Amino acid sequence: MDNRELLRNIPKVDELLREEVLTGLDIPAALLREAVRGELDSLRARVLAGELDSLPEREALCGDILRRARREALSPLRPVINGTGVVLHTNLGRACLSRRAAAGAAAVGGYSTLEYDLDRGARGSRHSHVEQLLCQVTGAEAAMAVNNNAAAVLLILSELGRGGEVITSRGELVEIGGSFRIPDIMVQCGCTLKEVGTTNKTHPRDYERAIGPDTRALLKVHTSNFKIMGFTESVSLEDMVELGKQYDLPVVQDLGSGSLVDLERFGIHDEPTVQHSVRAGVDVISFSGDKLLGGPQAGIIIGKKKYIDRFKAHPLARAMRVDKMTLAALRETLFSYTDLELAVEEIPTLRMLSLSDEDLRGRASLLRDQMEERGISAQVVRTEGQVGGGSVPTQLLPSWAVAVEPGRLSLEALEEGLRRRELPVIGRIFREQYLLDARTIDERDYPAVVQAVAEVLG
Ligand SMILES: *Cc1c(COP(=O)(O)O)cnc(C)c1O
Repeated sequence: MDNRELLRNIPKVDELLREEVLTGLDIPAALLREAVRGELDSLRARVLAGELDSLPEREALCGDILRRARREALSPLRPVINGTGVVLHTNLGRACLSRRAAAGAAAVGGYSTLEYDLDRGARGSRHSHVEQLLCQVTGAEAAMAVNNNAAAVLLILSELGRGGEVITSRGELVEIGGSFRIPDIMVQCGCTLKEVGTTNKTHPRDYERAIGPDTRALLKVHTSNFKIMGFTESVSLEDMVELGKQYDLPVVQDLGSGSLVDLERFGIHDEPTVQHSVRAGVDVISFSGDKLLGGPQAGIIIGKKKYIDRFKAHPLARAMRVDKMTLAALRETLFSYTDLELAVEEIPTLRMLSLSDEDLRGRASLLRDQMEERGISAQVVRTEGQVGGGSVPTQLLPSWAVAVEPGRLSLEALEEGLRRRELPVIGRIFREQYLLDARTIDERDYPAVVQAVAEVLG
């Protein structure tokens, strides 16, 4: 056949759309039509370029169309398998929700009691769904949730500090993730940052000397993502609270991660707990919902009722309010914390942090065995992961990984092949090996990982 005849024989769009394999699919009609057009355009181009002696079979053509349509329909926001060993991976969505939390969020997608009081049959408060549990698990008097911890700090300082001075130690002027910087936040909130002490040492008398008629609050910030070593000194929470009482000033703490569990039990040192701050008498405490708490993205504010009431009434609170799915996921996450052992079992972040060396080695061996059954060469090797999310910056998490033999591929091609899939597997190349850390891969995902590796290598 010559090119003109080939072009004439290219099927029509509508004719292809009537093919059985292209009907009754869960793909929007317009998208499917675009896929047919796209595939026919490229077929036409190949004919014109003289690349074809004959047209492809109908079945093959429909297969190509279907693949193109599925690729176009694929959401750019979709699940991945995290083999990096970084538990709170900011790029991969930070904390994994527990099954209880995910189910809770899915359950309120339709109508819900978001702002409806069933007892009174009248308008209720969206704060009510998490406040009581937050108080119960932290020991605080009152609580609320906003969009994230950055929003929480903004709201707190806007209400308490506007038009006045807020005193903070020079050793705590952190930058988190590029855009959250304490000095810049102060400017946003209309307050003046009054820095005290030095980078490595701050004493109670430094705060005391700085307190004046314009002082509105004392702010303590958890230095989540860095550590100063050597000769250091900072003012204890207890001393800050004492100063606050003496000068009638609120003491505010940005706790960053806000762990409700003492991570010392998992061998992770120096991460403060929320309960410790509450017991010390800090007036207002904020922390993230999706760092060590292991819940949805949220900013949690707890503390004295007289302050929380003011935050709830602030105009910014409306702009920062959380939606029903977040509130449901947060409430279910907090529910797990009513029993700490249940929390460690149910909340993926805690469960991953709690895995022992033996557990991790066993898991890596299991994954390796499943790979070998499929003819994939792999070894169990020692590795180090991280907590991530800007928490616990100086401590690595000893772990075990599966090092996959790349065969005839380069390590980079293996990494890319596993990454660019419908269900991506994200691993890392370290010292000439492609590693999948056993800590962050759910055992239920092993068959999918093995399948992915087999396809990429094969
Ligand atoms: C992470 C962090 C924040 C920002 O919290 P988001 O929930 O990411 O908005 C603020 N302050 C500190 C100390 C943090 O560690």
